[in-house]
Amino acid sequence: MLAVVVVVLAFLSPAARGGVTSTYRRSLQALPDMPIDADVFRPPPGFNAPEQVHITLGDQTGRAMTVSWVTPKLPDSNVVRYGLRADNLTHTANGTFRRYSFGRKYRSGFIHHATLTGLDYGTKYHYAVGSGDTASARSFSFTTPPKPGPDVPYKFGLIGDLGQTFHSNDTLSHYEACGGDAVLFIGDLSYADNHPGHDNNRWDTWARFVERSVAYQPWIWTTGNHELDFAPELGETPPITPFTNRYPPPFGASGSTRPLWYSVRMASAHVIVLASYAAYGKYTPQWRWLEGELRRVDRAVTPWLIVCVHSPWYSSNGYHYMEGESMRVEFERWLVDAKADVVLAGHVHSYERTRRVSNVAYDIANGMATPVFNRSAPVYINIGDGGNIEGLADDFRWPQPDYSVFREASFGHATLQIVNRTHAFYEWHRNSNSVKDV
Ligand code: FE
Ligand code: ZN
Repeated sequence: MLAVVVVVLAFLSPAARGGVTSTYRRSLQALPDMPIDADVFRPPPGFNAPEQVHITLGDQTGRAMTVSWVTPKLPDSNVVRYGLRADNLTHTANGTFRRYSFGRKYRSGFIHHATLTGLDYGTKYHYAVGSGDTASARSFSFTTPPKPGPDVPYKFGLIGDLGQTFHSNDTLSHYEACGGDAVLFIGDLSYADNHPGHDNNRWDTWARFVERSVAYQPWIWTTGNHELDFAPELGETPPITPFTNRYPPPFGASGSTRPLWYSVRMASAHVIVLASYAAYGKYTPQWRWLEGELRRVDRAVTPWLIVCVHSPWYSSNGYHYMEGESMRVEFERWLVDAKADVVLAGHVHSYERTRRVSNVAYDIANGMATPVFNRSAPVYINIGDGGNIEGLADDFRWPQPDYSVFREASFGHATLQIVNRTHAFYEWHRNSNSVKDV
């Protein structure tokens, strides 16, 4: 049974003062990563069988889908075969492969990416990767998002800071049981960098672990600090190379110049992905892109405006305290002016949800620097509770700020089920122990 904590039915509920700090505590907190021979990491059978299969949007709205996979020993075929019936994969998409090295010890398998184009909206496709004439070819399916429109329903899973512990596995299983259409992933994927030498085999195990979901539905990637893999001691100075070799978002489709910030439009939602770990000061590429992007949002078509960013702008947890502050100062006014609905963040390994709050009145002379309730401002949700190797952040600051509605140091995930242009159901799902200890 799932322990489901339904915390909001509509974001616009009138503000009742006094937030809640949940006293729920799990008996176990930090866990090591699952052992390298755990069943969820097992490569598929067959020589050189495609593994680590994952998909993400290949354009801005889902009429293209990028399929990625790894063949461990040989390049094998770059082709994805696909079609409307599992026994009739008549279409093909040609991809490319690459390898990369990390440090002195690691060399990746053959990482393939192929983009299927000209797909129909809201349609189930079957696809296969690997040579068709060998036993090691593997088949999957996905459904493209529906055509964007103001009342088109869609259900997002919201997952952050997942990692690859038993808690991570629990979180993913709970999400699968909740059944979303796509995942907004808020950064910090594998935590490979917590292993000696940033052991990139842990990027491979992570991708095998999450394949059971991400081979079947698109995950939209935000980058976190654990994607930086900046390791000059290993000779690895350009940052974010494992991530960018493995996870190609459709950034060009939204006019972005780097894979770290971009947007997608799915059903009735316009989703903007920002990068906490790329320059965002005035006139930087990300700043210029966001300025233009907010003008391109068409609320008549996509009434829901969702922003994903790894480092939270509002968090009352002592961990990573105020790390997102400089980006908040740079961009918060724009999101208030745009009437963004929700800002999703991770990074702090805990759960917290705010009221609609803003802090945009300050200038260098007026001293007005207090967050205030603001109906034009977004709700901030910190969903960095996926369950990674670093454990929970339970160092809440007291008193709980007025704007903090609910906070709890537990692992879990959330879902945002958009119903139409005015209503959505938001739920936070704590991973439940089998013991009832709520
Ligand atoms: Fe994290
Ligand atoms: Zn982080």
